[in-house]
Amino acid sequence: MSSLPEGWDMVVGLEVHTELKTATKLFCGCANNFGDEPNTNICPVCLGLPGSLPVLNEGAVEFAIRIGLALHCVVQPSSFHRKNYFYPDQPKDYQISQYDVPINGPGYLDLPDGSRVGIERAHLEEDTGKTTHVGGTGRIHGSDESLVDYNRSGVPLVEIVSGPDIRSAEQARGYAAELRSILIASGASDGRMEEGSMRVDANVSVRRGTEAPFGTRCEIKNLNSLRSVQRAVEYEALRQIAILDDGGTISQETRHWDEDAGKTQTMRSKEEAYDYRYFPEPDLVPVVPSEAFIRQIEAELPPMPAQRRRELIAHFGDAATDAQLDQANAAVELNLDPFIVGAIEKGITPALALARTANELAGLGDDAMSLPKDDYIALLKMEDAGELSATQSKKVLADLVAAGGGDPKAVAESKGFEQLDAGALDATLDEIIAANPDEWARYREGDDKLTGFFTGKVMAATQGQADGKAVNAALRQRRS
Ligand code: ADP
Ligand code: MG
Ligand code: ZN
Repeated sequence: MSSLPEGWDMVVGLEVHTELKTATKLFCGCANNFGDEPNTNICPVCLGLPGSLPVLNEGAVEFAIRIGLALHCVVQPSSFHRKNYFYPDQPKDYQISQYDVPINGPGYLDLPDGSRVGIERAHLEEDTGKTTHVGGTGRIHGSDESLVDYNRSGVPLVEIVSGPDIRSAEQARGYAAELRSILIASGASDGRMEEGSMRVDANVSVRRGTEAPFGTRCEIKNLNSLRSVQRAVEYEALRQIAILDDGGTISQETRHWDEDAGKTQTMRSKEEAYDYRYFPEPDLVPVVPSEAFIRQIEAELPPMPAQRRRELIAHFGDAATDAQLDQANAAVELNLDPFIVGAIEKGITPALALARTANELAGLGDDAMSLPKDDYIALLKMEDAGELSATQSKKVLADLVAAGGGDPKAVAESKGFEQLDAGALDATLDEIIAANPDEWARYREGDDKLTGFFTGKVMAATQGQADGKAVNAALRQRRS
């Protein structure tokens, strides 16, 4: 679904940096911990002091290979290079990265929509420190001072470079989302975009029609949410089209995405681009993982999102609706599918398990993932058995997640939730029908749209205590 003007096509390639979940940094024994007191996890190696020597972290190599295998890449012998440039958050004045021989060569990623995006490479490198510009807008221009935290300096990264195969802003978002799920599923990264452990750079160009040669691209740096990936790509393609339509030309440059303004802005032009003067890192030997090591990592790789989606959907047979397929995708994307599968295995109605997980649990933030599965399943059991209405069940769920778990029965009792008995429901319906004679007459003549009207009235009168299915049954019974 492209929203570009008629006749235009966009070409997008994404470069994704992901921090690895190792205990220590890539070339030293310092802790790799997000959020620690600034400049406490540092040593001569990650501060680049003269005479210090890097020692490669085997765990980071294993995680990089996991990512490569999950992306169907060629895993190969590789070596390190120095990428030279000056920046205060990089104390060595060079970054150790991989250049012409990355650990993971070409591969691909299949999206849930059936499209395939090529992977050019997925290589290992070290992260820089983190600079915070104080005062002003948070960017360096107009700030009062800049603070540098070297805790992140030397944290292992894998950079995953896609081919120029993406053709819409929506697909760019879909690629980033699926890649994030894969990174989390592989156990190599936590994929937390808001903490910067997954950062996306988007290369965008446009062309007149799908057969024209690729145009000049601009690179948008450091997109830190799936939403900004989609918005920035869309904005950038439209910006370039407007310039070309006006008879202008696109100059290759690096741009910054301003989330609040919803715009990209120039950071540096091609003329200002760095010449990194890559040369082989003399202090590190090539990495040559044995075939046995690679095969063992492959054998231990957990199930990937695509397989988990298939397994989840299999519980619905051919009967899954499009809405349910979307719900299944959303649940897997957020790694919540074990809640659904666990509930179905304990006998909960599949549609209920799917809907509650994808619609309610998914909306309760990162804490949802740490809710004990047994508590969740116990709650669904109560709702499935008609002991709680849907409204009541959702309220109990929110409380359980906020409290990090608990006994749903106790929570329901403490909220005074009891299922309305049949007599009370009848009495409530009598009152509502008496108060709305015209609507009731139309309903009896067959106007089914009024089902919602009466259900809503019953729910309001009982504060959500009535069970929707029971109300429907009672209405139908009175009509006949
Ligand atoms: P660099 O080394 O300058 O980053 P690369 O050749 O490694 O350049 O490409 C970086 C990214 O740009 C890749 O993801 C690639 O798919 C993408 N890319 C290359 N050419 C284009 C283009 N014309 N339009 C959009 N993206 C492109
Ligand atoms: Mg680049
Ligand atoms: Zn260190």
